Amino acid sequence: MILQSTPTGLYCARGGFYIDPNRPVDRAVVSHAHTDHARWGCRRYLSAKPSEHLLRMRMNDDAEFEFLNYGESISIAGVNISFHPAGHILGSAQVRLEYRGRVEVVTGDYKLGDDPTCESWQPIRCHLMVTESTFGLPVYRWQPDEVTTAAINQWWRESRDAGKCCVLYGYAVGKSQRLLAGLDTSIGPIYTHGAVEKGTQAYRDSGVAMPETTHVGSIDGKHDWSGGMVVAVPSAHGTPWMRKFGRVSTAMASGWMAVRGARRRRSVDRGFIVSDHVDWPSLMQAIEACDPENVWVTHGYSAVVARYLNEQGRQAEVLESSTRSDNEEDAETPERPAESETEA
Ligand SMILES: [Zn+2]
Ligand SMILES: [Zn+2]
Repeated sequence: MILQSTPTGLYCARGGFYIDPNRPVDRAVVSHAHTDHARWGCRRYLSAKPSEHLLRMRMNDDAEFEFLNYGESISIAGVNISFHPAGHILGSAQVRLEYRGRVEVVTGDYKLGDDPTCESWQPIRCHLMVTESTFGLPVYRWQPDEVTTAAINQWWRESRDAGKCCVLYGYAVGKSQRLLAGLDTSIGPIYTHGAVEKGTQAYRDSGVAMPETTHVGSIDGKHDWSGGMVVAVPSAHGTPWMRKFGRVSTAMASGWMAVRGARRRRSVDRGFIVSDHVDWPSLMQAIEACDPENVWVTHGYSAVVARYLNEQGRQAEVLESSTRSDNEEDAETPERPAESETEA
């Protein structure tokens, strides 16, 4: 094995680097810019080039960054490292390691299918595949994007006609921009929560087309919000920040909305099933396409997925050490929004 599992995360002893470490280390290879993968405080970071603006937005300036284009490789102590699109958010990458003909792939977070805000996932043939299983239960099956997008725009149109302002919740980096890309700008103006605006600016700086948005905080005094669409982080729900919008209709966009009860716990008016992670069928499809000899399952329903794969005749095991911390951003836990995202 090129990789080993340690309490700090996946480690390549030969190359002396960690992949998405959960503590500051000397050298971190980072799959994408979500805070549960890109930890603050490492000395050196190696990541995919399209994630540069997002990573620099979130990291300390004195860290040393190195970026590789997708498909480009470098060698550290004989281990070839390259990044390949993961389809999760802008710049998200699968990390491919090769040493003496053996190939190991860490998928990071990923999804299949097209997303207008990032490059699509590509299968990589490998000996070992490390996969997340955030939504690794058969109950999780996503609808095609055009169906969800149409439903969101329909909700916006109806709310506008009823004289209401829409507030749509999605995580600040990735989800929000995917939602923005699907909005029909002919319906009304689009406003953004501060954290969403910041993330969206990083997307624009990276060359991704985004619709025109106005930061909520830039509007002073009396303003008629009716007919507008506010894209906000989930932690803004139910806070005093919401009061200014007047009559609102609220909605949450998350993979967890597929489960009965999640929307009620959120106490939003609508729930749209939108996830940037693989659902059950695409997880199985991805493993089939990469055809690994071994699968390490992490992040989520790893025991269920590993057991299922073993029943299917694959060598799969649960990667214990990478159990998620409580404060990650994109685990999308409906009960526990990220406090850090609340706008002052
Ligand atoms: Zn992520
Ligand atoms: Zn994650």
